[in-house]
Amino acid sequence: MRLNCPCCGPRGVEEFTYRGDATVRRPAPDAAASDWVDYVYLRDNPAGWHRELWYHAAGCHAWLVVTRDTRTHEIADVARAVDIARQDRENAGS
Ligand SMILES: [Zn+2]
Repeated sequence: MRLNCPCCGPRGVEEFTYRGDATVRRPAPDAAASDWVDYVYLRDNPAGWHRELWYHAAGCHAWLVVTRDTRTHEIADVARAVDIARQDRENAGS
């Protein structure tokens, strides 16, 4: 599998580290304990398209959001996580 890093271009997956589900959102500091338990311990195991966090450890050290089909490993999109976070903040503010 190869990932097309937005900073470095196409690279072998061995340069990257999988860092988890990119769709999980941290609860508010005063959220219920059950919300924190869900945040820390519960993850879906989807068969199909999924947004994942990857870290380019042997490259530019960028955090990436990869949209990948977990059944075929087809990759639809790779974007810098900082750009996704900025986009989410702008959408939340409008
Ligand atoms: Zn990179």
